Amino acid sequence: MSAPSHSTTALAPHLDVLVIGAGISGIDAAYHLKNVCPDLTFAVLDAHESFGGTWLIHTYPGVRSDTEVYTLGFPFKPWRGVPYADGSDILNYLGETIEEFSLGDSFFYGRRVDSAAWSSDDQRWTVSGINLVDESSFTVTANFLWSCHGYYRHESGYVPEWAGLSSFTGQVVHPQNWPDDIDLRDKKVVVIGSGATMATLVPAIADRCEHVTVIQRSPAYFFKSPNLDPLADQLRELQIPDEWIHEIIRRKAMAEMKNLTDVQLLHPDISKSVMINQVAAQLPEGYDVATHFTPRHAPYEQRIARILDGDLFQKISDGKVTMVTDTIDSFSETSIRTHDGQVIEADVVISATGFNLSVMGDVAFSVDGATVDFSNAVTYRGVMFANLPNLAWTFGALRVSWTMRADLVNQYVTRLLSYMKDHHHAVVLPQLRSVDESMEVSPFMDPKEFNPGYAERSRHLMPRSGSHEPWRMSLDFWSERDDLASASFSDGCLTFLD
Ligand SMILES: Cc1cc2nc3c(=O)[nH]c(=O)nc-3n(C[C@H](O)[C@H](O)[C@H](O)COP(=O)(O)OP(=O)(O)OC[C@H]3O[C@@H](n4cnc5c(N)ncnc54)[C@H](O)[C@@H]3O)c2cc1C
Repeated sequence: MSAPSHSTTALAPHLDVLVIGAGISGIDAAYHLKNVCPDLTFAVLDAHESFGGTWLIHTYPGVRSDTEVYTLGFPFKPWRGVPYADGSDILNYLGETIEEFSLGDSFFYGRRVDSAAWSSDDQRWTVSGINLVDESSFTVTANFLWSCHGYYRHESGYVPEWAGLSSFTGQVVHPQNWPDDIDLRDKKVVVIGSGATMATLVPAIADRCEHVTVIQRSPAYFFKSPNLDPLADQLRELQIPDEWIHEIIRRKAMAEMKNLTDVQLLHPDISKSVMINQVAAQLPEGYDVATHFTPRHAPYEQRIARILDGDLFQKISDGKVTMVTDTIDSFSETSIRTHDGQVIEADVVISATGFNLSVMGDVAFSVDGATVDFSNAVTYRGVMFANLPNLAWTFGALRVSWTMRADLVNQYVTRLLSYMKDHHHAVVLPQLRSVDESMEVSPFMDPKEFNPGYAERSRHLMPRSGSHEPWRMSLDFWSERDDLASASFSDGCLTFLD
């Protein structure tokens, strides 16, 4: 791929739309802005030195997608690789998208946004931040602010405060900040964590380490699959155009995800035993599946990690990887003690313990001088917020590929912007009606429906979801797909000002 796509001109002092974040969501937003709202000026700012967000910063061995890239990718840009792709291939795909659709002129990197202040008098946001290249500050104004900041803090991952950690003399790393020069050869490595990161990283490093021990507090669900799609391969052999193949395999993948989600919701016990039996079949006879691979939560409550060709189970069967299911009591200089008293020697500890949630990109928001507390903000359709003018947030899907909802939201936002332009509206303000005032509010992500560690730790900081439409944040992509696409802007909840 050629050089990163970015603007070579100066950032304009005023824009119609300012997008924060150049990951999958921000690139998708730029595509729709350019196509649906060609008359609007816009820029995409990102704190990183290039595009890609998640797929730029994660460089640990084995980093790859956990859903197939036909749906993690964009609907408008065919995916031509294997279904579950390496991080670097996904990053290339994102770069190609920026170049192919000539979006680069709008992308400005190394710009961290720190504050956003709305003025009702001026009907615009004043956005300030730091240009990380030279540490200078910058300010830009925008009529509409669109946060595509993802959901977690990129600077550093979450590492629990384990007793004695500071006395540990070995190396401690987080997959989010993977050191290029780390040498794992013949080392005793402990990986702490149970999710997709653990499951992709461990098989990728196991052969070069002396031994890998995984310490997990509680087991996750795993699903074995091959990294190929026979239908896609057959269509390629028949020289069907890439655009068609992309659309066909997307629809197939979406139908499969829907079936899987429906079965998990309707028959959690059956899906649980199917997945556990599948894991057991890949492990040596007598392996303690009950302790290490029998989750306590229902399958739909957290993402299910995919094990390509059963590689993790193969490494366990080969004796290269040992699972320990227990909580950590303390660290010593050279080892970790679990609560049950097991002592595990370690040269290197990899803390695959998840994220720190980022609320609205950690930007300090204010409206007419008053600080915005997002933990009190009620979401409008999981896209905007009551009483916050000209502000949208792209939050993707959780149970299916993130991009499926991100693209849906981005189409909605650009349809709204286009509507506002056509009707000469300067401001859109979601407002609770009198019938909504007494509505019960609950967490943005209902803990009964979705409860991984990062969501649990920061639930209290997240916006609120109402008990009825259009104030609910839905985790049901399928109903939203119909609702958001056809949602009227005259629903009595959106006030428009000229
Ligand atoms: C290792 C890993 C694998 C994953 N695999 C999958 C998968 O297979 N399928 C799936 O659906 N999801 C997956 N996810 C979730 C993944 O994060 C999303 O799919 C998607 O990449 C998120 O894109 P995004 O653009 O919304 O956010 P991000 O990728 O997080 O990008 C947000 C961008 O916003 C920028 N930003 C944030 N705040 C500011 C600020 N204040 N100022 C300037 N810039 C800012 C950041 O620098 C970043 O570049 C995975 C996540 C990880 C960590």
